[in-house]
Amino acid sequence: MEIGTEEYRRLEVHARRIAVQQSEAIGLAAIRLDCGCIHYCGVSFTGDPVGPLTRLSVDNAPAAICLKCRRPDDRLSHRIEDRLMIWPGRPEEWPEPELRKLIAHKVFGDNYRETAG
Ligand SMILES: [Zn+2]
Repeated sequence: MEIGTEEYRRLEVHARRIAVQQSEAIGLAAIRLDCGCIHYCGVSFTGDPVGPLTRLSVDNAPAAICLKCRRPDDRLSHRIEDRLMIWPGRPEEWPEPELRKLIAHKVFGDNYRETAG
């Protein structure tokens, strides 16, 4: 299942927040897992994570963490159904397309989407 428009809107808010709070953060990487949970993390110019991997809260119920995601030994990479790069701000504020491609490739490999707002 893909990350939807409403979820993208909420992730974009986090992308803007991280870009303001962490000077090295240039974008946000988000994954949707087979359980329906969405996790996100800030990403630097070099495609390295900035800050912790955070779960997008669902319906204002932050305590309801699903059992699958609670298992610490569960390997996320096998459960990813969608990979999305989010660049905060207006498109003219985003990094150049070549740099965006380099960053996203380091984070996700070739298999990812990029939402243009
Ligand atoms: Zn989950």
